[in-house]
Amino acid sequence: MQRPMGTPDLFEQARYTPRNPSVAKLLAEYSSRYMPLFERVKGEWDPLIREFYRNAMGLSLGASSRKAPAGRGKKAAGDAGVPIQIRPDRDDTFLRAVDEMLPDVDFARIGALRELRASLHKAAPHFAGDPGRQRAHAWMLTDIEAHIGTNSLEGPFSTLMNTPGKHRDVFGSYFYADQHVELYYMPLLIYCEYRGIDLQWAIVKVLAHELAHAYHHAGRDSDGRTWPAMPKAAPEVKEGLAEYWSERFVRAHEHAYPALRTAYDGMLEGKSGAYRSVLEWRDDHTQEQVRLAMVMVRKHGAVDHAAFKAMLAEAKRVLG
Ligand SMILES: [Zn+2]
Repeated sequence: MQRPMGTPDLFEQARYTPRNPSVAKLLAEYSSRYMPLFERVKGEWDPLIREFYRNAMGLSLGASSRKAPAGRGKKAAGDAGVPIQIRPDRDDTFLRAVDEMLPDVDFARIGALRELRASLHKAAPHFAGDPGRQRAHAWMLTDIEAHIGTNSLEGPFSTLMNTPGKHRDVFGSYFYADQHVELYYMPLLIYCEYRGIDLQWAIVKVLAHELAHAYHHAGRDSDGRTWPAMPKAAPEVKEGLAEYWSERFVRAHEHAYPALRTAYDGMLEGKSGAYRSVLEWRDDHTQEQVRLAMVMVRKHGAVDHAAFKAMLAEAKRVLG
């Protein structure tokens, strides 16, 4: 159900008080500076993403199918199911990890140093001719590299994303049980500042990723089938499919919004493991082949990575 803007439940206060000063500053500025952007992105892009997925995947959300089991009919029809909530963090785990590993890092300064590093690389010819300038150039790059390296967000990220059994999406989540999506604004604010990624497009990217999970799980195909066993499928299958379809959405809009592509690539770069598994098969399969493999996966229930790759090969053979 859509709530009008400005109602109190749209803005959930963080229960955790961050110790890192630059994180505390982002949190304090959220309601005045960033919340309107989150709400605008949600209002403008949520319908576009859903329309794209409905057409491209051939799946629709909501209990519109006549084959839906009794008791499900209370949900909104069409693609209005799966509400989106914007929250500070999931259980404050990311904020706690940042405080534990990077209590004093100034994320705004790290962002500025990244920009400076990029400029220094571009300006290299200016420093090339003169030994004094050359030394200064090399010293600045080494110093910046060392500072970024020792204050890297990779620690908190790999702790949350790549620990076996603890695997999770840091910026958002799709919840199987009651079928809703959550976006986490604090990890997004910190990461975008740190990596120099445009916040608006990062939100679109994360929303597209989480909605892809929602369609894969709860979306009904033309026979009314959903994918109830999806929670048991291998992370490479679930995350690979979500990255694939969100990238197709980016591809459909990058001509008009090149910054969306930049944000997508920048955010995939920061991820590892299951999320990047899509790169193994993305470019040598057509969208129709991937869609057919997805139909097979959903029929088979819970599948591992190897079985999914076999289905991709089978889809490629069938469709040519
Ligand atoms: Zn995911």
